[in-house]
Amino acid sequence: MYFKEIVSHERQCGILSEAIDNGRLAHTYLFCGPDGVGKKLVAVRLAKVLNCMAENNGPCNTCGICRRIEEGIYPDVKILKPRGKDRIINVESVGELQRFANQKAYESKIKVIIIDDAHRMRPDASNKLLKTLEEPPAKTVLILITSRPDMLFATVISRCQAISFNLVPEAEIERYLMDVREVEAGEARVIASLSGGRISEAIKLLSDGLAEKRSGYINFMKSLLKGNAAAMFDIVKRLKEQFEEMEKNSVKMIMKSKKLDYGEFSGNAVDELEDEFKAEAMSMIQAEKEEMFGIWQLWFRDILITKECGAEVNIINKKDSGEIRLLSEKAEYSGIMDCICAIDNARKMLRYHADLSMVMEDLFITIMKNFKNREAVI
Ligand SMILES: [Zn+2]
Repeated sequence: MYFKEIVSHERQCGILSEAIDNGRLAHTYLFCGPDGVGKKLVAVRLAKVLNCMAENNGPCNTCGICRRIEEGIYPDVKILKPRGKDRIINVESVGELQRFANQKAYESKIKVIIIDDAHRMRPDASNKLLKTLEEPPAKTVLILITSRPDMLFATVISRCQAISFNLVPEAEIERYLMDVREVEAGEARVIASLSGGRISEAIKLLSDGLAEKRSGYINFMKSLLKGNAAAMFDIVKRLKEQFEEMEKNSVKMIMKSKKLDYGEFSGNAVDELEDEFKAEAMSMIQAEKEEMFGIWQLWFRDILITKECGAEVNIINKKDSGEIRLLSEKAEYSGIMDCICAIDNARKMLRYHADLSMVMEDLFITIMKNFKNREAVI
C-alpha cells in the first residue's frame, strides 16, 4: 500500500513496508541495482511515507509535506548527489550532511537523508561518512543509492541493510505505459523494448517524442540500404553534424530546463555549474546514441523475425512491414545476424568515446555488404 504507484519491485517495497509496520526500520539502507529502475523513486517515496500528514496507509502526495518533499524543498529530507565536472561527492558535502543529521528536525517525525550515486564519494568522504554510520543519529534514516556497490568501501556496505533492485521486466513497463500513461499499445511495446528495463528511460523516451525520432533514425537506415557508397558517407556526415549540433546546444537546453541563468551566479560558481552541465550534456548525448542504436537493432530484429517466420507476425515496426519483408528477402539469415552484432559492437565502441565517423562507416559497410542487392557494395 505504501508503495502502490511504484512499478515492479514488489519484494523490495514489501521489505520496507514490513519494517515500517513493525517499527523496525534500519538506520541505513543501501539500495543497489541498475541505473534508472526506480531506486531513488522508492527512497523519496519512503521519505513521504514516514512524514506525510494524512492519516492513511501511504503518502497522499497532496499534503504540504509530500509536495515539498517532491520539490526537494522540505527541510528534513536531504538529497546529496555528485557535483562538478567529475561528478563526485566530496568530504565537505558529507560534513554538511553530518551537521544536518545531528541537528534537531525542523518539523518531521523522521529525517531522511538520501545519497544518490553513493559510489561517487571520494575516499575521504567515505571515511567521514563512516562515523555517521557507526553512531547513527536518532530518528534519521539514511539511504545510499548506487549502481556500483563494488566501488563502495566494504566498511560502508557492512553497516547498511542492502536491498537489491533489478531491471524492470519489459511487460511491466509496457503495462505501465498503457494503463497509467495511456500510451497506445504499439508505441508502448516499442518504448518498453528500447527502455532496456529502465523505467526512467521509458519515461524519457515518451517525453522526447519517440515516434518522430524513431522515424528519423529509421529513415537514415532506409536511405543507406537504398543508396551507394556516396550515400553512406553522406549519412555519416549528417549524423556527425546532428550530434555536434546537439553538443553545442545541450548545455543551453539543460540550463533552460533547470530555469537557470548564468547572470544569477558569479566567479567560480559559473565555472562549476558549466562543468557540471557539460558532464550532464555528454551523458544526454550518449543516451541519444544508445537510443539510435536501439531503434536500429529493433528494426533489424524485425527483419530477422520476418526472415525466419516468413510472415510479419510479432514485429515491432508494423508500419514498415512491407519494406521489412522485402529486405528480409535480400539478406541471408546469418547476414542479418551480423548486422545486429555490428550495431551492438558500434554501440560499445562509442561508449568508449571512439570516433563517431569511423565507427559509423564500419557499421554501415557491414550492413551494406550483407544486403545483396547493392550495386555499390564496398
Ligand atoms: Zn502527504
